[in-house]
This record gives sequence, C-alpha cells and structure tokens, in this order.
Amino acid sequence: MELSPATLPAITISRAGAIRWKNGHPWIYRSDLRSPIDSLPTAGAVPVADERGKRLGWADFSPRSEIALRRLSFDPAAVIDREFWRQRLGDALAWRQRIVSESEAFRWIAGEADGLPGLIVDVYGTALSYQITTSAMAARETELQALLSELFSPSVLAARHDARVRLQEGLPIQSSLIAGESSLVRARVNGLEMEWDLMSGQKSGGFLDQRENWRALAAWARPGMDCLDGFTYQGGFALHLAARGARVQAVDFSRAALERAERNAALNHLNTMEWIEANAFDLLREYDLERRQFDLVVLDPPAFAKSRAALAAARRGYKEINLRALKLLRPGGILASCSCSHHMSESMLLEVIAEAAMDARRRLKVLERRTQALDHPVLLTVPETHYLKCLIFLVEELNY
Ligand code: SAH
Repeated sequence: MELSPATLPAITISRAGAIRWKNGHPWIYRSDLRSPIDSLPTAGAVPVADERGKRLGWADFSPRSEIALRRLSFDPAAVIDREFWRQRLGDALAWRQRIVSESEAFRWIAGEADGLPGLIVDVYGTALSYQITTSAMAARETELQALLSELFSPSVLAARHDARVRLQEGLPIQSSLIAGESSLVRARVNGLEMEWDLMSGQKSGGFLDQRENWRALAAWARPGMDCLDGFTYQGGFALHLAARGARVQAVDFSRAALERAERNAALNHLNTMEWIEANAFDLLREYDLERRQFDLVVLDPPAFAKSRAALAAARRGYKEINLRALKLLRPGGILASCSCSHHMSESMLLEVIAEAAMDARRRLKVLERRTQALDHPVLLTVPETHYLKCLIFLVEELNY
C-alpha cells in the first residue's frame, strides 16, 4: 500500500521527543506522544509532527511497545511504498558488498543502522535467516519476504521469530522455515567451511558479529601455541586459532554447540583441538589451582549484563574470568576479552580488566580495541548500536 503525507494525519510528539529526534536518535517513547490515544493508527508507517504541527518525517508506529515510534525517514515528503523498502534493502546489500571480505556469511540488514528498524537479515551462503521484532515490520512481512526473494533468490528462507522482545509488541514467538528443504546450511568464513543451523543456532545461526575478530585474533596465533577458548559455542575462535597451527582447548557447557564445533573441525581437517563440556567458571578455577599455563586465552561469555540493574553482578563475573585467565597466561601471552552487553561499556570493561591485571600482578599492553564486524554498524547517534567489545592484550609480568 502506498502511503504519502497527504493521505495520513501525523502523530504529534512532545518538545523533548522532537529534540531527541533532531539529535539523531531514532526512537520516540510512548510518554512523548501528544496525539489523543483514540486517534492513534494501527501498526505501520506514520508521518511525525512536532507540537506546532511541523512535519519531522516518517516513523514506524508500534501501538503496544514503550518505544512507540522508530524513525524511517527525516523527509516529510518521503513515499513509504514497496520501492522505498526495495531501495533500503538494496542500499544495505550494496554496502555489504563493499565491506564484507572473505565471508559468505554476513548481516545484510542490521535494523536501525540500515534504516529498517525491527528487521534483521543474515546471509549464510545462498540462504537467508531473518527476524522481525516490531509490529509495524510484521504488518508488512509478506511484502518483505517477496522483496528478499526478488533481490537475493535465497535457496533457504528461515524466519527466526524467537526473540522475547516480540512479546512486547504483541507478536507470537514462532520460528519457521518459509522456503527450502533444510535449515542446515554451509557458508565459508575466513577460508573455513562452517555449517550453521538457521533454525536452532543462537542468534540467526551463529555469531556473525565476531567474524572479523576471529580473523584478528588468529593473526596473533603461532603454530604450537597453547590456547584456551573459554566460551567457544560452535568453535568460532577455536577453529581460527587451530587453522594457524595452534593447540586449542575449547570449552562450552552446551553439548549441542560442541557437537557442531566438532563437525566444523572435521569439515576443515583440523585436529589440534580438544572440545571440553564444562562450566567455564569452574574450569578456569580448576586450571588456576593446577597452575596450568597457556599462551593465549579468549573469553567471549554471553551477555552478563542484560540490563543496567544487572551491572554490578556482571562486573564481578567479568572480573572473575579475566583474573583467572590472566593467571593462566605465560609471560608474553595474549588475552582476548569480549563482552556483548551494551550496558557494559568499553571503558567499564577496560576498568574491570585493569583491576584484574593488578590483582594478578600482570602488566597489560592494549594491542587492539575491537568491536562488532562492520556489517553490524555502530551508529554514532545511537549508543545502543555499539554493543560488542573485543579487547586484545599482551600480558607481561609486572616487573617494572
Ligand atoms: N565465542 C563464540 C560465541 C560465544 S556465545 C563465537 O565466537 O562464536 C557464548 C557461549 O557461552 C554459548 O555457547 C554458551 O553456551 C556458553 N556459555 C555460557 N555460560 C557458560 C559457562 N558458564 N560455561 C561454559 N560455557 C558457557
């Protein structure tokens, strides 16, 4: 359906909301709506105006969410039709073609960062996995599916509608295979053959946001090095380190994840890794007591801080694993420490690791301060889009 400014009344937002909008943040909260409740439309694209009636642009309206509006365009004259969506999808794909190298798997659409709030689309070779998290995007899901098919002709199309945030929008939690025979697909990343399950894997199949960090860390590995991958999932870091000839102990408490990791190792004829089903906290403690030694340790735990309220406990968790890891490292070793909690900022994480370093009597040199791969863009005016930290350190003795 074609929507133009002339055919729809605008939603009015407060002065504070308009300032936020003009400062570049794409969200307007329910408390900043000024239109009468009974005049609000159903989920979909609406024009947005300030209290004086000046049109500010277009946004997707979510009737049930606390985030009521998500910006689609600053242009009040924009026409939100099929061509608008095709253009956004096409532009995002063209950008990925420029920035993604050595990978058949990448994020095509990263929601707000691509001007498509509530939509994530990941590419795995010839397959696609997508997720919709807003009622406005859900209302045009069939149209989006058609556009994805038109622009990409996927062999498999999986709808990963299992994110809890869908409930806040009144959307059901229900994943399905829209097209294709099997959700098990292969896509090469950094020269490694990897198998992904688009229906049961974490995120849309795997952690594509770590793709560039896998390669970056592997560049520090040398043949024969002893490495420990504390939270390996399907072996992302471990496989890359082994491909450089390192010996790797890879730990996860999920048996299913380790089984897939093992299959990925076999696909690439890598046999210098040991897959260990264990709680990483316990194993790190045990190895510390046993005074085991490694040349490289990577920590990529799940988000310990899912909310601001959980920050203090999360801080303790990060401190503990980093402290143990530092004690396990030989002088001259490498520590890679990640956090995917947006609430745990890079400066907080650096602070926690600095405390752990002093407790462990180690001196750390910052080698690389990395973030999510470029296909998961960080928007300067939207701090929430910067969530992944991957810090790489040289670990030395505290001797001067
Ligand atoms: N490094 C991986 C992603 C890790 S995701 C990659 O780059 O692909 C976090 C992983 O930690 C999940 O696989 C989860 O099963 C595992 N995990 C969470 N808590 C754990 C714990 N206490 N001990 C071991 N594994 C844990």
